[in-house]
Amino acid sequence: MPQEKKTQGQLLEEQLLRAPKNGAEVLSDGEIAKADEFCEGYKAFLKYAKTEREAVIQTVKILKEHGYVSFDPDKKYAPGDKVYYNNRNKALCFATIGTRSMKEGIRLVASHIDSPRVDLKPNPLYEDAEIGYFKTHYYGGIRKYQWTAIPLSLHGVIVKKGGEAVTVSVGDEPGEPVFSITDLLPHLSKDQDARKLGDGVRGEELNIVIGSRPFRDDKASQKVKLAIAKLLFDKYGVVENDFQSADLQAVPAFEPRDVGFDRSLIGAYGQDDKVCAYTSLMAAIEAPAPEYTHVTVLADKEEVGSPGATGMGSDYFVYFISDLAKPYGIEGRTVLTNTKCLSADVNCAFDPSFPDVAERRNIAYANYGTVLTKYTGARGKSGCNEATAEFMGFVRDLFDGEGVLWQTGEIGKVDQGGGGTVAVEVSKHNADVVDIGVPVLSMHAPFELVSKIDTYMTYRAFKAFLK
Ligand code: MN
Ligand code: MN
Repeated sequence: MPQEKKTQGQLLEEQLLRAPKNGAEVLSDGEIAKADEFCEGYKAFLKYAKTEREAVIQTVKILKEHGYVSFDPDKKYAPGDKVYYNNRNKALCFATIGTRSMKEGIRLVASHIDSPRVDLKPNPLYEDAEIGYFKTHYYGGIRKYQWTAIPLSLHGVIVKKGGEAVTVSVGDEPGEPVFSITDLLPHLSKDQDARKLGDGVRGEELNIVIGSRPFRDDKASQKVKLAIAKLLFDKYGVVENDFQSADLQAVPAFEPRDVGFDRSLIGAYGQDDKVCAYTSLMAAIEAPAPEYTHVTVLADKEEVGSPGATGMGSDYFVYFISDLAKPYGIEGRTVLTNTKCLSADVNCAFDPSFPDVAERRNIAYANYGTVLTKYTGARGKSGCNEATAEFMGFVRDLFDGEGVLWQTGEIGKVDQGGGGTVAVEVSKHNADVVDIGVPVLSMHAPFELVSKIDTYMTYRAFKAFLK
């Protein structure tokens, strides 16, 4: 049968109107297989990178395997040289020197490796009714009720008197114990059910169960607490006061898993924003001799507004860039002024179970590719870096030219809420910045979902940018 001729309306539609595409429908089988394979590496990375410190350890290992060396600010580096700078074991910058002068700017990709979680307080250890607990103070934007009645693992470092640091990781290896925050049984939740959801479980109710057997000695007073303190002393050599100099974080004790009969999604803790950290890392290590020097930043503290020495509000990445350029007689500010930056962070994906918060024409959809976010912010774009039309145009042409599947995304309805990223911190230095990343379902929950196609396309987007 001969192909039916397209009508004038159909032809005009093709020419003039936007036509978003589901990657699972339009990509070749080979491309989808590549996406699935790429995500195996991602899941393996994420399994051992639940906290920013662990993400730094995993990343440095990969960087060293690919020829990166520790950065020496007194050295002049040549095209093709690869260096990294480890900021306090909580944030990283790494670079590959390009062939062009840094005067023409660099390519910067910045993501964050901290994720919402439940931190221990400085005096966390106590017992109540002969059950041992840790007191906590949650970190970042969590919906507190989601963190009860699930297995938790404990990660971090304790610095003992005298300065020796002990690394702690309990609950993620098979055979290790886990921890948990309790919640009420439905039989007795009448009063709790009447609370507003945001107040359903309160900060001071996020107490982690860590044991229940008392120390056998009639004269001791807090016998469960004492028994746990003894276990901790025997295992780590720490005493109660050592918790005061510790970074200890409780995170979900889940492994990254495929989700769905078709395995099209990944479910895991901490994908915001390690999905962008991993994709940008892979793109960077595979770009051997770039034209423009490229710098990748994996920042800490984004989930609490990017403060602190390891957050993107700190100047460490500016110093790093300035120190790279200094031996060539180029000022850091000249480099930054001409820099193009992708602020790599997740955005929300449309959730058909909760359609009311979304504006369907502008929200991102799972499987529709990496998401470019022109602006973030809340209530009238407050606090956002908005990418210019010119820079959006540059990125669009770049991605289209390289066959990257991409979409635009706005976090939700105009007056519904909003969010921010590290984009603002980079734009302060007069660089062009746009947000890009993977659409996420259940963002900030203990188990977040992303599409494998979107993850792969985000990596492809970074590859195109660093070419
Ligand atoms: Mn994020
Ligand atoms: Mn976040």
